[in-house]
Amino acid sequence: MRTRNDEVVCMFQDKVSQLLLRHRSILDTLSQHAESAVRVNKSITRTVTSCGCISVNARKQHVPPEVSLKDCRKYLHSHIEGSLCEACKEMVEEEMGNNLFYLAAICHLLDIKLDAIIKREYNRLEALGFFHLS
Ligand SMILES: [Zn+2]
Repeated sequence: MRTRNDEVVCMFQDKVSQLLLRHRSILDTLSQHAESAVRVNKSITRTVTSCGCISVNARKQHVPPEVSLKDCRKYLHSHIEGSLCEACKEMVEEEMGNNLFYLAAICHLLDIKLDAIIKREYNRLEALGFFHLS
């Protein structure tokens, strides 16, 4: 069964493959993908250190031993306080989009369908539930 989201991912990968001129080499593309992942993290860091719309308040996570795996989430904290302002959200989304571009490019160069990966991972998460956590 095909859903609209499947089509969007296929269309995205097709568009990336059409635009993939500068980064035709798998080596260049791997490098660009890694650099784009760093830029995603840097953009999130900037939301804390430059803008300040979110802050990080981290401490050791404590989950009582008798708590079930399903109820663990009640005790686990993201360590994020606040929420992204519109400008930061746009910046982070742009870097994530760039990261997806290079992931789709790698998929194209290796003849792998990105939508098939997403579908397989979704099915795996559905089947494993909370047990996918390592
Ligand atoms: Zn902000």
